[in-house]
Amino acid sequence: MTDFLSTGTLPDEYRDLALTVREFARQVVAPVAAKHDAEHSFPYEVVSGMADMGLFGLPFPEEYGGMGGDYFALCLALEELGKVDQSVAITLEAGVSLGAMPIYRFGDDKQKQEWLPQLTSGRALAGFGLTEPGAGSDAGGTRTTAVLDGDDWIINGSKQFITNSGTDITRLVTVTAVTGEAGGKKEISTILVPTDTPGFVAEPAYNKVGWNASDTHPLSFTDVRVPQENLLGERGRGYANFLRILDEGRIAIAALAVGAAQGCVDESVRYAHEREAFGQAIGRNQAIAFKIGRMEARAHAARTAYYDAAALMLAGKPFKKQAAIAKLVASEAAMDNARDATQVFGGYGFMNEYAVARHYRDSKILEIGEGTTEVQLMLIGRELGL
Ligand SMILES: Cc1cc2nc3c(=O)[nH]c(=O)nc-3n(C[C@H](O)[C@H](O)[C@H](O)COP(=O)(O)OP(=O)(O)OC[C@H]3O[C@@H](n4cnc5c(N)ncnc54)[C@H](O)[C@@H]3O)c2cc1C
Repeated sequence: MTDFLSTGTLPDEYRDLALTVREFARQVVAPVAAKHDAEHSFPYEVVSGMADMGLFGLPFPEEYGGMGGDYFALCLALEELGKVDQSVAITLEAGVSLGAMPIYRFGDDKQKQEWLPQLTSGRALAGFGLTEPGAGSDAGGTRTTAVLDGDDWIINGSKQFITNSGTDITRLVTVTAVTGEAGGKKEISTILVPTDTPGFVAEPAYNKVGWNASDTHPLSFTDVRVPQENLLGERGRGYANFLRILDEGRIAIAALAVGAAQGCVDESVRYAHEREAFGQAIGRNQAIAFKIGRMEARAHAARTAYYDAAALMLAGKPFKKQAAIAKLVASEAAMDNARDATQVFGGYGFMNEYAVARHYRDSKILEIGEGTTEVQLMLIGRELGL
């Protein structure tokens, strides 16, 4: 079994964290993953366990209830969770990088004091509402509006595909909205909307192909009134701010995808030893060994890509291109490995209760969410001056 952590290249504190999360993933997450997937149910008990471990507070300072770790620590946790259950991993990823991080990065003291302790504890979740029916990759197409009426914003519009937006513990959704026009362009700002505000509705959850145990809803806003001070960051900086959030988020998604890719390798190695055909373990066939060898190479290469992007980010250096590369290659590695692992498993690989079948359904969205493959290529091209 491949074990990147055992190579000794990680400092002890990162290695210990990853091993702890790995154990949690094996003991607590894996046994209920197929059940929640089949029932399309949100795994509250698992999320509560992750909260107890402090995972939702990993990259935040202790003054806000965090663990005082960093973004790379979050990535390592996501990789371990992503190996066994992508739904659980995306719940953590979205909770931290889309839910709490925008408040930490752009919030004022009052907003941080009010929201971060709840979110970093994992007892409450926040969503990030950027995508709309007519604005996905082209997020500048936002049509949701926020108009000042006295001391309040009045928000009208809709969002779609918003993760963590309708659970029993969701308390907040941060939304982008058009707040005016500047220089002939839409002025887009970001506003905090507590989910108990009248006029805010999380519509029924989507029936998805995968990530069945994660929570995803369309949202509607009808004359939603929130105080003016719920503006997050500077007015008109909403677009720039969410681009920063998405750049970081891509490293986290890449880590999750590496977990999925590695999970497929680990399952395939085990099965190739166990399963016999024509009087021998299928792994003795070079065709199978080569397939799994290529899967391992993809996971490893994608891991080095996200490690690199995370290292640049933590060093305060530009990391946009590296984050896009990491997201691109890791999501493709997950999808390719899921397809190959399903092949290694034969007919069993097509049965929903097998982890590789879940990876097969779950991995596709990795090439779409937080910027599609094409968007990553656009970003890389731009960074190359094209
Ligand atoms: C399960 C799930 C969870 C999600 N969670 C969230 C969330 O929490 N918050 C949130 O805001 N959003 C979320 N999303 C939305 C997700 O980020 C978008 O679906 C994604 O950005 C793509 O946007 P779109 O679906 O509108 O596709 P479109 O932008 O319409 O793209 C359609 C196709 O056209 C391609 N395309 C578009 N423009 C170009 C171009 N210029 N050149 C080449 N190709 C192009 C795209 O790559 C894609 O293949 C989630 C989506 C899903 C499915």
